[in-house]
Order: sequence, then structure tokens, then C-alpha cells
Amino acid sequence: MYSSLLYKKSPIFFQNYLLSFKELARKVIRERGDDDFSRLILKHETAKNKSTEYTKQQLSLTLKNSRKNVSHYKHLDLVDSSNLSEYPAMTKMDLNENPTQFKASNYKGIVVNGTTSGTMGMPLSIPQNLTSVLRENAFLARHLKWAGFEHGDKRAWIRGDLIVPLAQKNAPFWRYSYFENRILLSSYHLTPASLELYIEKMVDFGVDIIQAYPSSVVTLAKYLEIHDRYYPGKLKSIITSSERLTQADRALIEARFKCKVFDWYGMFERVAAIANCEYGRYHILTDYSHVELTDCGNGLHEIVGTNFNNHLYPLIRYRTGDHVVLSKEDSCPCGRTFPVIDHIKGRVADYLLGEDGQKIYSLYHIEKGVQGLIATQYVQNTAHEIRVLAVADETIFEEKQQSILTSNIKKYLGENIDVTTECVDRLPKTKNGKVRHAICNITQ
Ligand SMILES: [Zn+2]
Repeated sequence: MYSSLLYKKSPIFFQNYLLSFKELARKVIRERGDDDFSRLILKHETAKNKSTEYTKQQLSLTLKNSRKNVSHYKHLDLVDSSNLSEYPAMTKMDLNENPTQFKASNYKGIVVNGTTSGTMGMPLSIPQNLTSVLRENAFLARHLKWAGFEHGDKRAWIRGDLIVPLAQKNAPFWRYSYFENRILLSSYHLTPASLELYIEKMVDFGVDIIQAYPSSVVTLAKYLEIHDRYYPGKLKSIITSSERLTQADRALIEARFKCKVFDWYGMFERVAAIANCEYGRYHILTDYSHVELTDCGNGLHEIVGTNFNNHLYPLIRYRTGDHVVLSKEDSCPCGRTFPVIDHIKGRVADYLLGEDGQKIYSLYHIEKGVQGLIATQYVQNTAHEIRVLAVADETIFEEKQQSILTSNIKKYLGENIDVTTECVDRLPKTKNGKVRHAICNITQ
């Protein structure tokens, strides 16, 4: 809707109405879902037996449905196997090569098509049945409760929706969803000159919870940090998802916004969901899907998942390419029974190459001690060149700060790397509106 001429050409007050009614329609569809299911998954938090039993049953249903109705699995000659380990692991590449072979032939109902992120360079369309849409909503609602949400709370939304046309160069860079009690702020207009307005607007609206891409809320947190300030309103929490949240970014957001961050890890393939509780631990939601953590060495484990809720497009032992670090804890003070991991590592694609071809994943150090930076993106097209796109307060991020950044890059990637820095108003986004921190275009 946001890209339609009607929306783009409408006056702002009318855009607010269009957006509000669109969100109302969505709310009605998603919330007509199964209250019993929402109640059931709430019980799983503390009733381990119920949760384990449910998980077993869902896995068995998924395997049975796949063997019976999905051509890819029919041909595997696993007639009666309910033993997951007999199923070969698969990757996004397998889906790309032949996406239709994973679609169940027996499904007749409503199909909702969605596209997975192209951050791995391979965007992909995945069909979902209505159960998948409704259950996803139930799991997200459960997480919203973890983050303290109560009926009537006001929310801010700063994600990939292009709610304000790019042609609009002046405020307001936000719109309202009246029935959802929500203000939606454009993540495409977060320029240094507009950041103060974003903060003011959220405070004026009386926001209780912010739901945002990490890159958007980090931009605001860095702005506050540069000016030695704190968010002037009182928030219950901030919920992040869809992009990598580093431990350093989390600490910065929590300090500057004076509240906890509840990160959610999920994906359109719906094969795994991992969520933060109020104690900051990451819980694997074992009633959402079946997750295996495959040891890759270096202390990392890859997330390999089997989805439960989309029998239209069942994916079994799907390798996500994302990694976690295991936790030493076997329980969490929150009392929830879902297993705990320490943290999620960035997608494998988010790295730069050092001068000897080594992959550098941790880019946080590069920006240490550099002042004035708000958001950055590192682009590497050739082995010895890095181009830095920087959104910055240019009165602070001047020559001296730029040279600190250059020397940091050389320090961590090698002296033979040439660095060019370009100050920009905003960073390029992927098709889904996400910002990648590093883009390495070198094939090894
Ligand atoms: Zn917990």
C-alpha cells in the first residue's frame, strides 16, 4: 500500500487514516486466531512436561505431513520414519533451486506469500498457510508480554515499512495507527538533522514500548550518546528484531534509553525463534519449532530448524547459516523452561576480509574511540579496499576522527587496507529495508 500512488499522493492526515485502517484489517485477521492456542503456549513457559509432549507431537505431525504431501520428502524413501536424524539437512540453496518441491500438494486454503530477506544475497518467496500467520502472531504476542506490554500501552514502530514517501524531505516523518495506539516512524528518514524530532515525537506521544530494527534504535542511542543525553521519557522496554543485535549495541541502547532490550530472532522460513526474557537471557522457543544446534568448532553452533506451523511449506533440518554461542547456565532466573543460549552471532555474511583473507566478524572494535558516528556501513569490493559510508555529526566526525577510524580499520584488518570514508545522509538498505553493517563482495 505504501508504494501506491494513492498513498503517496494523499495528504498526511489521509495517509494516517489509510494506514490505520490497513492495520485494523490486519489486526482483525491476526487476532481472530485461536485463543486456545495462545493460552496453550503461555502454559508451556512453566510446564515442562506439557511443552515437551507438545513439541514431540508437532514434530511427528510435521514429518508425517511432509512424507505424505511434499514431493521433496516423498522421494527420500523414508516411508515410516519418525527419526529426524534420518532426514538430510537442507539449505537455502536447495530451496532456490527448486522451490515448488517443498510445497504440500494437499493444501487448499488461504496462501500468504512473503519474501525472505536478501541479506544473504538470495531473496526467496515462501508461501504460508493461515495457521502459520496466526500462530506467528501468538508467539510474538507472548514475547510482547515478556517485554511488559499491557492492553492500552502505546507503542512506537521504527522498522522497514516505507510509511513516509522518500520524496518527502521535511517532517513529519511519522504516521499514526489510531486503532493500534501506535506511532510509526520512518527508518528511512533518520538523518542527523531529524533525530531530535524522533526523540521528541516519541516522548510527546507517550510511548511505552519501542519496536524497532536494531540499526534504527542504535542510531538514536548513538545520537543521545554523542550529546551526552538520555531518552527523556519513561519506557517499559525496547523490542528489536530482524537484524543482528551486537552485545555492544544492546548495552548502548539500554544505557541511553534506560530500559531493557528484548531481542527476537526469527526468520520467514519459520524454522527457529529465540527470544530474550526480562533477565536478558536468550531462550530457544522449543514449542515454536524443533531446533538442533550443530557444532561448527570455534565455540559456535549453527541453528538448524524444523518448522511446526506451516504445513503448506514444511522445512526439515533447515540450515539457517546463523550461529549461537552456548550458555553455561542450564536454567534462567525467570523460571521459564525453554533452554538458554548465551548469544546469537551475526549472520555469516556480515564480515570483512583482513589483508590476509581472514574473516573479521567483530566490527565493534573498529569504531571504538571514534566520536561523532551515528551509523556506518563497510563495503569491500576488492581485497585491499574498504569504503566506509558514515552517517555522522560532521561537526564532530571531522578529519581527526576519520583518521582514528582509518587507523582502527588498519589495526584490525591490516595496514595494507586502503580506507575511504564518505559521509552520507542515510545508509543504503536492502529490499526489505534492513541495513547491513558490512558488505563483502569478494568471493573466496
Ligand atoms: Zn529467562
